[in-house]
Amino acid sequence: MLIQQDLGVDYYRLNRDEVLERISARKKELADKLLILCHHYQHQDLFQFADLAGDSLKLSREAAKISDREFLVFCGVHFMAEAADILAASHQKVLLPHLHAGCPMADMATAGAVTQAYKELMLAGIMKDEKDMVPVTYVNSSAAIKAFVGEREGSVCTSSNGEKVLQWALNKGEKVFFFPDEHLGRNSASALGVSDEQVLLWRRGEVLGGHSVEALQQARILLWDGYCEVHMRFLPEHIRKWKILEPEINIIVHPECPQDVVSIADQYGSTEAIIAAVNESKPGSKWAIGTEINLVERLARQHPDKDINLLAPTVCQCTTMDCNQPVYLLWLLDNLADGKVKNQITVAPEIAVSAAKSLEQMLAI
Ligand code: SF4
Repeated sequence: MLIQQDLGVDYYRLNRDEVLERISARKKELADKLLILCHHYQHQDLFQFADLAGDSLKLSREAAKISDREFLVFCGVHFMAEAADILAASHQKVLLPHLHAGCPMADMATAGAVTQAYKELMLAGIMKDEKDMVPVTYVNSSAAIKAFVGEREGSVCTSSNGEKVLQWALNKGEKVFFFPDEHLGRNSASALGVSDEQVLLWRRGEVLGGHSVEALQQARILLWDGYCEVHMRFLPEHIRKWKILEPEINIIVHPECPQDVVSIADQYGSTEAIIAAVNESKPGSKWAIGTEINLVERLARQHPDKDINLLAPTVCQCTTMDCNQPVYLLWLLDNLADGKVKNQITVAPEIAVSAAKSLEQMLAI
């Protein structure tokens, strides 16, 4: 569905400096009721206004602790705002600067398609009971998918605990279905020593995900065929080139990158792990980083004493998150100052209860 968000001519006439100045003024005016949350992948023009910065789950959990702020403006994507709404107190409202700021990877696993996959597996006799297949979903998924997982006693995972949660799921059931990111699932399975033959890619739109009943019976892990188009742009040849040109360089990549990239990098880890690795490195160290460009450029600005580069020669930007341009934040804050709540993201109570179960399961693991 195309959502039009027309601000009107007055906003389109503003230049960058005017927009930033007016956001600063509005932020001061609304300070006692407003909390601005910014994901690491947002552009610096927005990021400079962050009251809290971090990855999606960290932001939601920390924001929920600051319960005296009524409005949580989430400069991130839709699933992040949903998670914030699930964890927020009932009087808090979560707002997204632009409603087009979604995550294409999260959108690749819909509750309807995932439910259909489970039905097919039951009908084919791959599992006698739904409990035989433990669902695990990456936090980069819709609230509806988290609820599907919570209803089946599965768990959410993040890019920092994927292996731990996958191990828990393998201990719990005969098989695991991992949503929506093929690559985080495959990298986690590989780190646990699960053989390639036991891992199958479930191809959306194909009967039984494109596999025979026999192959599915032998598999231990099914991976939904979702992917992050930003992290898919990093290639093994980028790593090989850096290693030839700068043999002492440290290559660190995000686990949403394909396995042929992760397997030859020096290190891999979540956005928080990448930031920690760079922060803790010695002055003069050299880095090529395989993750979203705004984070890499920010690290380079913060560490002028280190040589920090994007791993790929092309721009790897989360363009949907970038829909949150400063002018939309200004428009949102102007409306709040005028008593109007725009772009609120809400999760239906019954979905929120089940989704919270899958998040709580992860915390228990
Ligand atoms: S970087 Fe990838 S996974 Fe993260 S929000 Fe953007 S599209 Fe989604």
